[in-house]
Order: sequence, then C-alpha cells, then structure tokens
Amino acid sequence: MVSNVLVLNAGSSSVKYRLIDVLGERTLREGKVERIGEGRTHQEALQELLASVAGQAIDAVGHRVVHGGAELIAPTLVDDALVVKLEQLSPLAPLHNPHNVAGLRAARAALPQVPHVAVFDTAFFSTLPRRARTYAIDQELAQRYGVVRYGFHGTSHAYVAELAARALGRPLTELRLVTLHLGNGASACAVEHGSATETSMGMTPLEGLVMGTRAGDVDPGALLALLRSGLSVDELEQLLMQGSGLKGLSGVSNDLRDIQARAAAGEDRARLAISVFAHRVRTYIGAYAATMGGLDAVVLTGGIGEGSAQMRRRILQRFDYLGLTLDDDRNDAVALTDAVPSALLSTRASRVAALAVKTNEELAIALKTARVVRGEQRTNTASSIPIAVSARHVHLNEEALRALFGPEHRLTHLKDISQPGQFACEEQVSVIGPRGRLDRVRILGPLRQQTQVEISRTDEFALGVDAPLRDSGKLEGSAPITLEGPAGSLHLREGLICAKRHIHMHPSDAEHFGVKDGDEVEVKLQGGPRDLTFGDVLIRVSPSYRLEMHIDTDEANAAELGQGAEGTLVYTPSSAEGVVTSRRLRPSAGG
Ligand code: ADP
Repeated sequence: MVSNVLVLNAGSSSVKYRLIDVLGERTLREGKVERIGEGRTHQEALQELLASVAGQAIDAVGHRVVHGGAELIAPTLVDDALVVKLEQLSPLAPLHNPHNVAGLRAARAALPQVPHVAVFDTAFFSTLPRRARTYAIDQELAQRYGVVRYGFHGTSHAYVAELAARALGRPLTELRLVTLHLGNGASACAVEHGSATETSMGMTPLEGLVMGTRAGDVDPGALLALLRSGLSVDELEQLLMQGSGLKGLSGVSNDLRDIQARAAAGEDRARLAISVFAHRVRTYIGAYAATMGGLDAVVLTGGIGEGSAQMRRRILQRFDYLGLTLDDDRNDAVALTDAVPSALLSTRASRVAALAVKTNEELAIALKTARVVRGEQRTNTASSIPIAVSARHVHLNEEALRALFGPEHRLTHLKDISQPGQFACEEQVSVIGPRGRLDRVRILGPLRQQTQVEISRTDEFALGVDAPLRDSGKLEGSAPITLEGPAGSLHLREGLICAKRHIHMHPSDAEHFGVKDGDEVEVKLQGGPRDLTFGDVLIRVSPSYRLEMHIDTDEANAAELGQGAEGTLVYTPSSAEGVVTSRRLRPSAGG
C-alpha cells in the first residue's frame, strides 16, 4: 500500500521536499534544505531533510527530473541503468540534471528500501508535432546535438489543464487551452484535446517568456553580437540566466511584488518590466490560438498567475475580439487555496474562458509515483500499439458447448492468447450458411454468457450471410447462423457478427493516450508495405485488458500487415465543429 510519498526537487543549491499523503491528497511536511555546494554535499542535505521528516512513514520517493531527453517520457522506476542514462543526458540540461541526479543518488543511498520514481518535466511534450519540435537549422546538426524543442514545466501544464477542464465541467479532450505557468520560471503551452502541441520553452528552459531572471526570447543575432563584442560564453550565460528577465529589466528585483510597488511609485524601469512581461505573454496567447485554430480557455498559474491580479489584467485585457472578456471584479477577488484551487476570471457571456488555477507539481509527482509503484502506470516509453489479427472464431456458452460437443464435454486449452485469461481451444466447429460452410473454425475460451460467431466480410460471401458490424457482446438483432460440432448441430437465431475493430487497453493506457472507454479514434498502421489509417476504431478500457488493437483478416490483408505490426493512435475530436483536422496523439520516437 502506497500512502506517503516523499517528493524531491533537487536544485543546484537547495533540495525542496514535500511529504504527501497520496490517499488523502494532503501535505504532511514540506521544506527546503539550502546551502548545498557551500561546503555541503547532497548527502548531508539529505540527512538533514530526513531528520525533519523523522517519525513519518515513507513508502516511495518521487523525483522531479527536468530533462528526460527524447527517450524517457513516462514516469519510471529508478534503477542503476536509469541513473546512468540520466547522467548521459546532463549536457542537455547542465543547470538542472546534474543536481537532479546528485539528489537522486543521495536519496537512494539514504532510503534504499523504498522504490524511487523519476518524473520528467519534459514528459508532457512528447506529443509535440514535428513542426513545433523542429528548429529551422541544419537538421543533421540538430540531430547530432539534440537541438530540438523539448519543453519544460510539463507536470504543471498537464496538472492545471486537467483542473481547468474539471472547473469548466468539460472533458479535457474537447478543449483547446493555452496554459501559462508564470513563476520564477515561466512558460506557455498549447494544450489541444489533452495533448501539448506547442510550448514556449525549447531545447533548454531559457526560451520563450520573460522570467524572474531569465531573458526568454532574444534575437540569436544579438547574442552573436554580444559574443563578438568580447563577452565570454560564461558571462553571456550568466547574463541570460541570472541577470535578465524582470530583474534585468527592472534593474533591482526578480520579484514581481517589488516591481509592482516600484511601478506604483512611478519608477519607469519597473513599469517597463511589467509591460514587457505582459506583452510577451499576450503574443504567445495569440500565436497559440492561431496554431490551434481556436481557443476555449486561457489558464494562468504559478506565483504570478495565481497571485497577481494586476498582471492577469495586463495579460487578458482587450482580447474581446478573440471572444475572451475579462471580469475585473472576479479577477480582483481571486484567492486560491488547496480546497478551492481554481477561479473563473472571464464574464459569464465570454465565449472563451479565463481561469486562475493553483498548480501543485509536487502532488502531481506524488500521484504519478504512487501509480508507478502500484504497477498501474505503464513505465515504458512506447507510444505505439501492438496489432493482433483475429481470424474467424467462435465463443460458446454452456448450452452450445453441450449441443455441439456432448453433455460432459469440457473445453481443452490449446494455448493462451494475448488478452489475460483468454485462450485458444483444441475444439473446432463448422459454421454453416445458406450458400456455403467454413470448417475448422477455432473455439476461444473461456465459456461466455452468449454464443458469438465472429467472421470477416470475405467469410460472409462464402457463407451467403449478412453479418452486422458489432462491438463484441452486443448481439441483439445480430444475424442467424448454424454451427456443427462432433456431437450435433445448433441453429442460432442470433450471434453472428463482423467484429468492429477495437483497441483493448488498461485504464493507465487510456490515461496515457488521453482517451476513454467508448471513444472512437483513428489508427495509422505501419509495418506493412501498404500503410493504412483506419477510422472508427473503438476504444475498450478495462483493468483486465492489455494494450492491443484487434482487426480481422480482411483488414490486415488490406494493409498487408506482417508479424509485429504496430499502430499509432490518431485522435479525432468528437466536437461537431469539424474544422479540426485529426492529429497524432503520440508520435513514434523521434517523430
Ligand atoms: P517558482 O517558479 O520558483 O516555483 P513561483 O511559482 O513560486 O516560482 O513564483 C514566484 C514568483 O511569483 C515571485 O518571484 C513573485 O514575483 C511572484 N508572486 C508571488 N505572489 C505574488 C503576488 N501576490 N503578487 C505578485 N507577484 C507574486
């Protein structure tokens, strides 16, 4: 039983921690151990940290890891191999990953008896389409040095998107959101139907919005000019990381509260800092509304998004042309708490909603960690769906078994098939229609409540029958058919179907893909010489299912699929607008 999860966020000079009861979703202890590096190691910091949570049970540790690179996506159980992999990724995030790894090593040494899970900031952005992921530079170089958009703050963007959808009372899969994480670090994200399709941070957490001390977008030509003028690389890095943003603009502080006070007192640099910050955020909102082809809500979070009514007004004013009208009274009244973590900022008539949402990255990490430890979350990074081809087959009920094989007969197990608990039997029957018969049709066990015969369209012609296209188990009004076994034959008034193509998935897969039971999606099939995308693919979710798409022999032949074929999910929005083109939910690796 996983109840208490210790969440660690190890930075360069401090380790922030929070002990969370994941069952009650409440914080038990939290704090920060500082002055790492100044004569103190991560190990020593960890000892101090553990002393401050002494007396509390720790069932698992969740680690925030900034950069997962191209391969590490889903939350992952930490082992030695993972630590090595993370070390190899350090050059991609030199300011974050080495500290995350040092913290991870120290924590594993201090708490060797509990499972540790790494949760990646980049994970939410594995869905970025290629056009958003790619920088317009030489692609060979880009590949060699990993110069692509990874995106950061993913845990927060995903969390507030979910909360916003809940607050709006609409499924996330129907919404186009711009989420804005505005804290010391700041980033914007386009969340389309639950998946990130654009984000402002790039290969590193330096691109995009104005931040506390980071510059965000700067003309790369200006950086070259600064280097040519004699600034060293280290000095430039220091300038862009620590000496820019609100601090560089205002000349005094990276804290918006100070800057707002100075602006109110008439200080021009402070006023400039506020207006550059808001202006940059506005340009991203407009850009993402354009890339998504529409907008349902803007969601603000982080210290500034949650705390500054003034900045929210600066950002959200004059968006009426987009359908967003800010309600000033609501904006001024915002007071977010753990119990009331979201507030509507827009007017009742506003077509596009605006919300302030309290983020909680630690809780999100703790919940993901618990799910991994309980084995409910797939920990691999695979995005593709294995394909299984179903040949014609028969499911029998008790009565049919007796009629076809005799009163005492028991099904004989031949071999397990992929779905847990299901098996192919030694037993075979003949399926007989008005025009012809199909012999040696396999029985699949175990016995069911209803007898069901699943054939392909080609089989229909051979038999001279009309089998309706059906979801397995929905037999009312299905076609009649005759079965013949060694002990006798049986005429069914209904039970013959052509099975609707479908994907079996575990609830954790459904979460991973952002779909629910009963959804219909498109799946692009690869692996054969004739790529094909199937529409009307039914999603079937159950804790007893394993991820697999089932198609019949006609469908497999049409795509000329061989062994080991895989598909990629393409999500078709169910909204009636009909203007959103379908798109891939989870691009394959490197996509
Ligand atoms: P981090 O990215 O380090 O987690 P936070 O999300 O805590 O940062 O945001 C910190 C920033 O939020 C502060 O530097 C401050 O500028 C801003 N902030 C917090 N509360 C308020 C407030 N009430 N009014 C204006 N700004 C605020």
